[in-house]
Formats: sequence, structure tokens, C-alpha cells
Amino acid sequence: MSAPVVIVGTGLAGYNLAREFRKLDGDTPLLLITADDGRSYSKPMLSTGFAKNKDAEGLSMAEPGAMADQLKAEIRTHTRISGIDPGHRQLWIGEEAVPYRDLILAWGAEVIRVPVEGDAPDAIFSVNDLEDYGRFRAAAAGKSRVLLLGAGLIGCEFANDLSLAGYQIDLVAPCEQVMPALLHPAAAGAVQAGLESLGVRFHLGPLLTRLNRVADGLQAHLSDGSVIACDLVLSAVGLRPRIDLAAAAGLAVNRGVMVDRQLRTSHANIYALGDCAEVDGLNLLYVMPLMSCARALAQTLAGTPTAVSYGAMPVTVKTPVCPLVVSPPPLGTQGEWTVQGSGSDIKALCHDASGALLGYALTGAAVQEKLALNKQLPALLA
Ligand SMILES: Cc1cc2nc3c(=O)[nH]c(=O)nc-3n(C[C@H](O)[C@H](O)[C@H](O)COP(=O)(O)OP(=O)(O)OC[C@H]3O[C@@H](n4cnc5c(N)ncnc54)[C@H](O)[C@@H]3O)c2cc1C
Repeated sequence: MSAPVVIVGTGLAGYNLAREFRKLDGDTPLLLITADDGRSYSKPMLSTGFAKNKDAEGLSMAEPGAMADQLKAEIRTHTRISGIDPGHRQLWIGEEAVPYRDLILAWGAEVIRVPVEGDAPDAIFSVNDLEDYGRFRAAAAGKSRVLLLGAGLIGCEFANDLSLAGYQIDLVAPCEQVMPALLHPAAAGAVQAGLESLGVRFHLGPLLTRLNRVADGLQAHLSDGSVIACDLVLSAVGLRPRIDLAAAAGLAVNRGVMVDRQLRTSHANIYALGDCAEVDGLNLLYVMPLMSCARALAQTLAGTPTAVSYGAMPVTVKTPVCPLVVSPPPLGTQGEWTVQGSGSDIKALCHDASGALLGYALTGAAVQEKLALNKQLPALLA
């Protein structure tokens, strides 16, 4: 039998690519390999699951067996690839060599862990897949106080979701505003005020330095000397694209595994998409870009080399207490911000010197303007 197309990873990137490929090619052997349990799920649902009272089972959309039937593929679960040998077109799972026709890296990004002293590091959780979510949910059952680390998009979404589910949230982050990399300060202020109205207590500036077990839970010591009582800690301080195995195999890496517009790495027959991929200089850790990549790469794998293009990629942030849509100005562009509105309804627009719209942040009622504004936004990869 000829060597299969091998996809490493069964997240949204891996499974969507397999679906798109099967629409074009029903015959080529297809092998998916995943370090996790291979259930199909939508990762964005992980930060709205508590308010909807959904456990991991409730968020799972299909078991790997059903996915294998649907995709006419072999799926190896709980299997971690340990190396790639591009010269011999094979990958390694420990001692086992697996040949490939084409290899697609869809192995995502890993959570950044912050060093914390003390005797309770096991009480620090992070949620980056369905199994993480199941572990965190089990640990949070019967508890009431969660310390959240990180004021980025995911930290804010969890603050909203866990508050709606009745948890008392203290949010600690070493920055001056929420989502500093994404948001104009006016929009950040609206989101923070919304979360505060749910009871979220913000501690912006300090870091968590030590976590100790005490009789009635945990004691979190911050770098500014303050101490917070909590029952468990959820860390959402950021994600780092997985590049180590690619670098060890000699593939070009930067922030992510570097690929061109056809999703080709620096080595023939090896491609990448999703959170691990840096596509023509852009490493976007969102669903919309990976869907565009999956459609283009499926064409290439089926014999029609196809370049991906990205339109504007606005992100809807799941903070229902203060609805938020954001489209940051493309990297390297220069613009001026103007802000209209007040309170929870902020419209912050960024224009270049010629008056063209580069980006926006819309909160509250201003979110209704997103469709009209989206038409004016520049494409990210034209
Ligand atoms: C809580 C949360 C909420 C989010 N909400 C949104 C949102 O609202 N909108 C949006 O656009 N984006 C959102 N995102 C981001 C979006 O979900 C991700 O960009 C996307 O799911 C990434 O998919 P992926 O397939 O690239 O990676 P992953 O889903 O991380 O999949 C990686 C796969 O690779 C496997 N793997 C890793 N290493 C190996 C190895 N060595 N061997 C074998 N297998 C391996 C893993 O087991 C897994 O199957 C959210 C992310 C999180 C964490």
C-alpha cells in the first residue's frame, strides 16, 4: 500500500483539513495521529462551558471511532510523535518509523507555564484542550473561589464564564489593562467594568509568586505583597506554538513553523496549519485563519497547488457581559485612533494617514456596526 497522507493533531486544524481533503479525494490513505484522546470538539466552547453547565462529555461532538469512519481514515490516539526524518519521508513514534506521502503538522500551541513557588503547584490548572477542561471542571466542583492568571482574551472569557457559573473570581495579571495586545484602552476599560459588575476583582500589575496550601484552601502571594485566598488557580497567561520537533528536524521556524502561502514548510512534502503555523509571517491563533488554510491545503494535497488568502479576521470575544469584537490593525501598520461612545458602548477606530480603516475595537451596542466596518478593513493576506 502507498504511504499515507499523515496529519499530526486532531484539533480544529487537523480534523477540518481531513474533512476538506476527503471532499476532494476519497481514496488516498489518510492517517491522523494525536497525543490526546481524539474526540472532536470546538475549542472555543471551552471558555463558555461552565455557564452552560456542560462537562467535557457534553462538549464532545464525536468519538475518534466515529471520526475515523466519517473521514475514511485511521486515527491513532494517545500517540505522541517524537521526531521527523524528512530525508526518508518518515516520522518517529518512539522507536516506530511511520512513512508518509505528505506530512501535515497541525499540532497546535502549548500553554506557557509561569514559575510559582510554594507547596501547591498541582492546584494550578490550564485549559487548552477537552481533557484539560475535564480535569479543571472536576477540581472546581464544590469549590467557590478561583484565582485567574492572565488578562488576555482567554483569561477574560473564563472570568466571565466562571462568574456566571457562580464562582468568585480574582484576576491577576502583570499589565495595566485587559487584553493589552488586542484592545484600545477605552474598549479595555469597558470590558473590565463589565466583568467587575459580575463581581470579578482585578489585580493588575503584580505577579503570582507563591502558592501555599492552608487549612481552608490556598493562599496566593502576589509580588506587591498582597495575599489572596482561593480554592484553585486557572492559568491563562498565553500559548506558545509548538516548534521544537520541527526545529530538530531542520525545518525553518520563527514564532511558529514557517510556511509559505501554500502552507509548505522549508521541506518538501511537509506542511503546517493552525496554531503551530506561521503563514507568510502571520501566526494567528484563531479559528477563521485555520479554516481558510484547511480549504487551501486540501486543494494542494489533492493535486491543485493553492495559495491561502486571508480577508479581514475580526475576533468576537466571548464576554457576554460586555460584547466585544476586535480587529487589531495589521502588524507594521501606522494609524491614529479615534474613540466615540462612553460607558460600555465604545467604538474605537484606527485609520491610516489616507483615512483608510486599519482596525477597530467595538464594545456593547457598538458591536452592531461590525458588518459595515468589516467591509472597510484591509485583507491580512491579500
Ligand atoms: C479557551 C479557548 C477559547 C478560544 N476561543 C476562541 C474563539 O472564540 N474564537 C477563535 O477564533 N479562536 C478561539 N480560540 C483559539 C482556537 O480555538 C485555536 O486557534 C484552535 O482551536 C487551534 O486549533 P489547532 O488544531 O491548531 O490546535 P489544537 O486544538 O491545540 O490541536 C493540536 C493537536 O495536536 C496534538 N499534538 C500536539 N503535539 C503532538 C505530538 N507531538 N504528537 C501527536 N499529536 C500532537 C494535540 O493532541 C491536538 O490533537 C480559543 C482557544 C482557547 C484555548
